[in-house]
Amino acid sequence: MKIVKIDQFRPKHRTRLVRITTDNGLVGWGETTLEGKPKSTWAAVEELSDYLLGNDPLRIEHHWQHIYRSAFFRGGSVLMSALAGIDQALWDIAGKFYEVPAYKLMGGSTRDKIRVYAHWGIRDLSAEGLEKSRERLEWLQKRGGYTAFKAGPAGKWRAHESPSRIDEFIKAAYMMRDWVGDDVELFFDFHAKMTPALAIEVCTELKGMRPGFVEEPIPQENKDALAVVSRAVPFPIATGERLLSRWEFREIFESHAVAIIQPDVSHCGGITELKKIANMAEVYYVHTAPHCAIGPVAFSSCMQVDACIPNFFMQEQVDAGLGNGLLQEDWTVNDGYIDLPSKPGLGIEIDEDAACRTIDSNEPELGGDEWFHEDGSVADW
Ligand SMILES: [Mg+2]
Repeated sequence: MKIVKIDQFRPKHRTRLVRITTDNGLVGWGETTLEGKPKSTWAAVEELSDYLLGNDPLRIEHHWQHIYRSAFFRGGSVLMSALAGIDQALWDIAGKFYEVPAYKLMGGSTRDKIRVYAHWGIRDLSAEGLEKSRERLEWLQKRGGYTAFKAGPAGKWRAHESPSRIDEFIKAAYMMRDWVGDDVELFFDFHAKMTPALAIEVCTELKGMRPGFVEEPIPQENKDALAVVSRAVPFPIATGERLLSRWEFREIFESHAVAIIQPDVSHCGGITELKKIANMAEVYYVHTAPHCAIGPVAFSSCMQVDACIPNFFMQEQVDAGLGNGLLQEDWTVNDGYIDLPSKPGLGIEIDEDAACRTIDSNEPELGGDEWFHEDGSVADW
């Protein structure tokens, strides 16, 4: 079997897909969406296609090694996201070739179903804001019976903030607990917007409503600073959506900087690398909650790993992950769980009419240009 064709598509905003076709007609799909860098992974996949065409798609590990190591310069979000999408497509082909879901080629299932959490929170304490929050909560509960949600402190945060700014977020968090009760798990994503000192102060105030974890309390580059936050906070700290490959996670593990890791299957190096990172985490009693804020191909790739690792915690699921008009059959959530994938490969059938097109859009891929502080300096979003 040989790879004969590699196509790319941008069917939606924040959605880039790669399709690999073999000489016997098998087709594998991967997602290379890299938030904020819409053109870069596209070019990287084009470059890597020269190597892949004519090769055996089943040599997944070998191709991973070649792509990661042979170009001399390693890593970085562009190369790792391109590699990730290609790796997903190769696992899709392998599963279809052997007629099993990909996780059955990686040791088989370690669970019967996959727990997911949705995005919900109270960001705005006005009557209108509260009504919107209530409506979304009820919609999510009715749609999937979710028992875990993630929110975050909205807006920009400086090195320190006024008591009223901090209290507004804390009040919203306690209100969320009040609304959902003690059987539901609530997580908060600080989006790396805080300094260690402010993160510790805010987490100390959050403690009483028992959050499940706080994600990216501070930026990801300094593992020692993250360990300082973790040691001062009496509940789990999570990070990892911006960390790439085992080598970047190694430092997090060795400094015991977090309790939960969140590698992103479309950035960390694909299914192959996500599973290896999770296996490394097991040694440190760290659990894995894969990050996924993009489309259904990435989400389905996450679930192939979730299905077969022992130290899985919970899967992030945004609304777009369930299908977003790109799948012939959407994933369904029942009582907060998704059934183990049963179809071959990534477990999905792409709606080719919807997916095989490239929209013409200049819409910015991030939050626009609003992320400046009042004095004009750059703010983290
Ligand atoms: Mg995050």
